[in-house]
Amino acid sequence: MKEILENNRRWVEQMRSQDPQFFEKLSKGQKPRYLFIGCSDSRVPASAITGSGPGEMFVHRNIANMVVNTDMNLLSVLQYAVEVLHVKDVIVCGHYGCGGVAAAAAGKQYGLIDNWLTNIRDVIRLHETEFRRIENEEEQLRRLVELNVIEQVRNLGKTNIIQNAMKGDNPPRLHGLVYDIKVGLLKDLEINDGMMADFEHIYGTKAMEHAEEVLEDQVGAKEDLGSAPEAKAAEEKNSKEGRDNKAPMRKVA
Ligand SMILES: [Zn+2]
Repeated sequence: MKEILENNRRWVEQMRSQDPQFFEKLSKGQKPRYLFIGCSDSRVPASAITGSGPGEMFVHRNIANMVVNTDMNLLSVLQYAVEVLHVKDVIVCGHYGCGGVAAAAAGKQYGLIDNWLTNIRDVIRLHETEFRRIENEEEQLRRLVELNVIEQVRNLGKTNIIQNAMKGDNPPRLHGLVYDIKVGLLKDLEINDGMMADFEHIYGTKAMEHAEEVLEDQVGAKEDLGSAPEAKAAEEKNSKEGRDNKAPMRKVA
């Protein structure tokens, strides 16, 4: 502890020598440009790897940089950063060699943390074909780190916080980065808005409109059918499928 306090005093002297008003200015408030959601791993310090100083970055870190929609901590940070601080960029940053990602892929039990790792196992399920196709284990885990970041950026887009912000005048931009511990470099996964739009009909506020359109199309197809025996059989099949499809949509409503 003594070492930390000594380091702190040395740092204060250094900052004051560069700018005597440094701490006074910071004490007036913060206006960070970035929200950084990263891994708790000690080798991935948000400020150091991005060259950001105090006041420039609002930070949330957890095991494997997850965006979990029942995590009140993450949601509170996200809402405050987006709606109060008006950050311009929201970054999810993963890193190669992530212990959380490796543990999720290992197929073992670790205790309480398994419930958290389930969220990464869901990423494997979503991308299982691509994941299993990679034979080299290290390459497999590196790709899983990237896929996990992509899915966590998607998870940001599923929150009503981001969806509402996107309707505003200055919506934040969402980014997915991966940090390479071996070389110290950040890689931009270049996630674009189109990737989010692909799922607007399920997670977005227009989901019910889409569901109604699907139902109308089904009813329309039914009315177009003639009275020929094969058409009657098709009509019955359609009607059954229509019922099957309707059930979960009503449930959602
Ligand atoms: Zn990690």
